[in-house]
Amino acid sequence: MKIPSKINILGCEIPIQHCSADEMIEDDKVKIGEFNFENVRIRLLDTLDDSTKSIVLMHEIIEALNWYGDLEMDHIQIGALGAMLHQVLTNNKLLKE
Ligand SMILES: [Zn+2]
Repeated sequence: MKIPSKINILGCEIPIQHCSADEMIEDDKVKIGEFNFENVRIRLLDTLDDSTKSIVLMHEIIEALNWYGDLEMDHIQIGALGAMLHQVLTNNKLLKE
């Protein structure tokens, strides 16, 4: 999946930024991805390979939907839904290569 520079989620144009490990440190850990509702952006760790990036992006999309939709899913549910949706879309060739 080609990672776009921005993504439309429920009418919001959300930029997707590729960030270094230094920029992704939080609480002494390097995050691989983040949806930030205050700054309205998605950030991905730039050293991930493309297929991992697309899985992390799907996770952050679910994070955004959970936030905007007030779905109150916990992080385990968000993680599971992101990974499962990515598998179905990928294995049925519903994602652009
Ligand atoms: Zn998360």
